[in-house]
This record gives sequence, structure tokens and C-alpha cells, in this order.
Amino acid sequence: MNFQSKLTHPVFKIVSACADEMQVPAYVIGGWVRDLILNRPCKDIDIVAIGSGIELAERVSKKLGNQYHVNIYKNFGTAQIAYDDYDVEFVGARKESYRSDSRKPAVENGTLEDDQNRRDFTINALAISLNAANYGELLDPFNGLKDMEDQIIRTPLDPDITYSDDPLRMMRAIRFATQLDYVIEEESLASITKNKERIKIISKERISDEMNKIILAKKPSIGFKLLFDTGILHYIFPEMVALHGVEVRNGKSHKDNFYHTLEVLDNICKTTDDLWLRWAAILHDIAKPPTKRFEPNHGWTFHGHEDKGARMVPKIFADLKLPLNEKMKYVQKLVLLHLRPIVLAKSEVSDSAVRRLLFEAGDDIDDLMKLCEADITSKNEYKVQKYLKNFELVRQKLKDIEEKDNIRNWQPPIGGEDIMKAFNIPAGREVGLIKNAIREAILDGIIKNDYDEAFQFMVAEAEKLGIKIKE
Ligand code: ATP
Repeated sequence: MNFQSKLTHPVFKIVSACADEMQVPAYVIGGWVRDLILNRPCKDIDIVAIGSGIELAERVSKKLGNQYHVNIYKNFGTAQIAYDDYDVEFVGARKESYRSDSRKPAVENGTLEDDQNRRDFTINALAISLNAANYGELLDPFNGLKDMEDQIIRTPLDPDITYSDDPLRMMRAIRFATQLDYVIEEESLASITKNKERIKIISKERISDEMNKIILAKKPSIGFKLLFDTGILHYIFPEMVALHGVEVRNGKSHKDNFYHTLEVLDNICKTTDDLWLRWAAILHDIAKPPTKRFEPNHGWTFHGHEDKGARMVPKIFADLKLPLNEKMKYVQKLVLLHLRPIVLAKSEVSDSAVRRLLFEAGDDIDDLMKLCEADITSKNEYKVQKYLKNFELVRQKLKDIEEKDNIRNWQPPIGGEDIMKAFNIPAGREVGLIKNAIREAILDGIIKNDYDEAFQFMVAEAEKLGIKIKE
């Protein structure tokens, strides 16, 4: 099979000329070839030379008029050219051998075949020749093309060796199966299950990186089910495993919160590409296992799971080496508030309850509503429609109050500084108490959102604390 006409990027002709001048065979290999065949855009071009990748890169750069800088990584024997928004990497073909305690192999120079053997999956081992003599020819020693047609993830060599050598490949197999909606070949899947414990030697950062790619796929539940079924999830994200299972007592059962969570996650993927909103979906019920109680008169309850869940978020983020910044706070906030819009669906709800939620959610109110809508996973279509209608009503109420009060990014008319000045007191507990009381009174509609009313209220509140206005 020849792909000459598909090598439209100008770098290929230049690599071809340079490789021929050096009399070195050169190929484009791996993800770029896979994505070309799958018609997926790919900005990473990997060039392998049967010789020095660095020398080839230097020559290519020279031919490009030194217009693009070459980054050379001597220790790794690689070089990289940032060609506009393409990342072109050059490496010499290599043969790898592994030891059991590390995923870093010993490396020596090798043939194209050696280089293809070290690749993780048949679909990632395809190469296209760039030398003039056979420009565009596909080299597919493991029938990767056929596996793409059959939608199968398969390792080129014995899966036990492939996965044990570099256990990150187990995550990658599941990630590709999720992104491409492929099936992991049976022997490979059994091998992942067998080697699951070896995931422990992989850094948390790499694991989360793959997990995030699973979460960003169209249907992440595919990946999480595979992670669960193979037992990998038990090592990398035990809190999520704890959601699994149904308990029955006195004939009363609760839903399986693992599969419910996955449904919520798949649902939200239809309305957002945002990684962190997707994380909020994963974590919204995370504290159901530790808050689960059986109350003889009511059945199963999960009181306070939203609050405890929000408090669990920082540790989960830290364990997974996810960023401990405003993204984490955003996820925490959505987990904490995820039950609140349900209460607002009731017809007799007061304006102040709506105002309070708008104030607490701020600009994240629309994301919160998306999460709540995704959280509807009833099998009963009538119920789904009814709940969705309720949320439509909530959205309307939020809109009405927002138009009236403009509360989203609201700050009370009197702040800490004003209080300190009015009573001539330093910052401290009292200032906080008075400030909160003013905010709550406005949100509850006890006083108007107006300076004079807030001032009067402040004086009264301060008096309760024995603080008098400065003469
Ligand atoms: P994506 O670009 O979607 O993250 P990719 O696999 O194409 O996935 P890279 O991770 O840059 O991108 O890998 C490029 C190529 O290197 C792969 O196609 C594969 O041939 C090889 N490769 C990457 N990681 C491994 C690994 N852990 N074991 C073996 N081969 C690997």
C-alpha cells in the first residue's frame, strides 16, 4: 500500500532528500501514521532513522534555511523541530530491553524491525518509508491495518512481556480502546488483569495523564469499566471502586453508584468538553460510600454526601497529582452544590433560596445546572422528562432573579474595611461576624441590597456584640 499522496506536509519531502543524501533509511512512524489512516488530525510527527536521528534533524534544519530551531537531546539521542504548529521528532531506530523494576529500558541502536517491535500496539507500529526509492510505502509487519479495520487493540509481541516491561501500556491500551471505541484483544485483556499490580511502578502523573485522556473521550465509561474489570482502578483510584456494588437490607436496595456515576459522566460529555466539569461528574457522589446508612423506616440514606464529597476532593486531587488550584476549587464547589437545584424545583421555593444559590455558585451556575441534568439517570423516560422540566423551571427562576438582583458576582454594599472604619476596630473575628450577618440578611431578603439599610443593620449587629459606633 502506498501513501505517497497523503504525505502532504512539506517536511516529508525535505526529510526524504536529507535521508537520501545521508544514505540512511528514514520513516514516519507511530501515532502520525495511525491517525492518518484513521483520519484524525495529528500534530506530532515522529521520524525514525536507521542511523543518527540527530544528524538527520540537523540536516533537515539546514535545508529549511535554519528557519526553525532544532532542539537536541543528546542523552536521549533525539532531536525536535517545532515546524509551525507541528512538532517533528527525530530519533535513531532502537532496540530496547527491560528490567523488572523500572519502565526505563536499556537502549541500543537497532533496525526498523527492532523499533517496530518496541512499540506498544500493532496500530502504533506502522511506518511509512520516506526514501525516494520507496517513498510512501507502508511497512506493517504486525497487520496493524487489519486491526484497525477490525477495531482491535493488540500488542505486537507477547502481551505479558509488553505490559510487564512497561505497565503504562495497560493504561494506554484502555485509553486507545476508549478514544477509538476499539476492543482490547482477549489475550491482551487477560494479560492486563494479570499484570495489574505492576501499575504501581508508574508515576501518578503519567497515570492521571492517561486517565484524563479517557475522561476527555466521547464515552469515558468504556475506559472506566475496563479499568474496573481489569482491577487497575483498584490501585489507581480506590475511592471510585468503593462506589461499586449494591447492598440489600430488609428487601431494600440502593442503586450501584459506580455505574450511576459512569452514566452521569457519559451524559455530561454530551454537553461539555471541559475536563473539570467532567471531573465534577466523576466525583459528585464520591462520598456516598462513607456516608451510607440504613435507616429502618426510610431505607438507604447518604446524608451529607455532597458536603463530605467536597471535603474529599483535595486529597483525591493530591493523590492523583491533579492540580491543587482553582480547578480543584471549582470541582469542589460543584460537588458541594450538586443537590441544591433539586430543592429549587419545588414550586413554593422562595426568592431568597434562589438568590442564595446564585450567590454561592456565581459564574459556575450554568455548569452546576448541566451537572444536575446529567445526574438524571432514571430508566423511566417519563421521570426523566419530568425532572428535566423541573430543571427548566429552575433555570427560569435563576434567570428571573439574576435579571432582578444581578447577584452572580455580587458583593455586599458594606465590606470588612467599612466595618473596621465605622467602629475603629482592627481586623478580627467580630468584623467577620458582622460582615457575614449583613450578607445573610440581604440574601434572605431581611434588608434591601442598599448601603443605608446595610449600615443600620451593621450598627444593630455590632451592638449585639457590645461594639459601639465611633463618635
Ligand atoms: P497520543 O498522541 O494520542 O497521545 P500517541 O501514542 O500517538 O498518542 P505518543 O505517546 O507521543 O503519542 O507516542 C508516539 C508513538 O510512540 C506511539 O504511537 C507508539 O508507537 C510509541 N509509544 C509511545 N508510548 C509508548 C510506550 N509506552 N510503549 C511503547 N511504545 C510507545
